[in-house]
Amino acid sequence: NLLQGAQFVLAAHRVNQLPADQGAEVAFAGRSNAGKSSALNTLTGHKGLARTSKTPGRTQQMVAFALPPLAQGDGEAPLVARLIDLPGYGYAKVPEELRAHWKQEIDAYLHRRESLRGVVLIADIRHPLKEFDRMMLDFCFATGLPCHLLLTKADKLSRNQAAQALAAMRKSFPDGLHATAQVFSSPANTGVDEARARVVELLRT
Ligand code: GDP
Repeated sequence: NLLQGAQFVLAAHRVNQLPADQGAEVAFAGRSNAGKSSALNTLTGHKGLARTSKTPGRTQQMVAFALPPLAQGDGEAPLVARLIDLPGYGYAKVPEELRAHWKQEIDAYLHRRESLRGVVLIADIRHPLKEFDRMMLDFCFATGLPCHLLLTKADKLSRNQAAQALAAMRKSFPDGLHATAQVFSSPANTGVDEARARVVELLRT
């Protein structure tokens, strides 16, 4: 697991407080309670890395995690790599002001961050995409960033239902969006290797 050994670096309220814009990073986004922290913890094999919470909508920050440098081909120096946990504010109790702040920061981050290679969007497989998710897809469309959708909590559906939800989701992507999607479950360990491989692939692009 190349994502093993991730370490907390810092938490930021603004894009300009993030680590130096060098190397490669992949951002994780999702509405509160979608299962983003659980996914980060599962992918990195580090149970306490991102704080999971059963109380959605707490004050949030952008959190940077450093990954072990990724080996590259033919004598190149190892690639400095990071994961960025974006705040998931798509929850009714988040004050309008905070929502507007994060919308602006995430917009700026996705448009200006040179080291950003792609976005992993986390959404509950049981529900249609919500306003926050659509906004993230729109941002990816606008910036040309690849997006990988993790449909989480797949253990809550039968295998068949999950496959149908995945197929429907793929069909709904607009033409021209660089999006891939998969089913995922932290407790059932579904799709974990696939998601790790995709994150590493994004980091190396
Ligand atoms: P976040 O707010 O997006 O970071 O969500 P969390 O990772 O804190 O998860 C929110 C809730 O969903 C918690 O109660 C988790 O235990 C639960 N959860 C997260 N991922 C899964 C999953 O794949 N399957 C199931 N059944 N529950 C999950």
